[in-house]
Amino acid sequence: MATDKQAIRVSPMKIHLNSDACQGHARCHALAPRLFGLNDEALAVLLIDGDIPADLEEKARLAARRCPEFAIEISEE
Ligand code: SF4
Repeated sequence: MATDKQAIRVSPMKIHLNSDACQGHARCHALAPRLFGLNDEALAVLLIDGDIPADLEEKARLAARRCPEFAIEISEE
């Protein structure tokens, strides 16, 4: 029987964004727009709360590596 529901595999990865350190370079948003948005002051905001979908893991790692302020931390349990 067909269903409209799709299984989304989540990883144990979590992202922590240090908003105090963010300087608004927007690299994270450019690299991972499904994970990072920008607020009215062009500072980063997380778009996903909790576990990261598995297909976004690499984008999350890339954004963390490329943030010039080291404002993005990844934890993987
Ligand atoms: S790349 Fe880093 S400093 Fe730039 S907007 Fe994203 S979190 Fe902020």
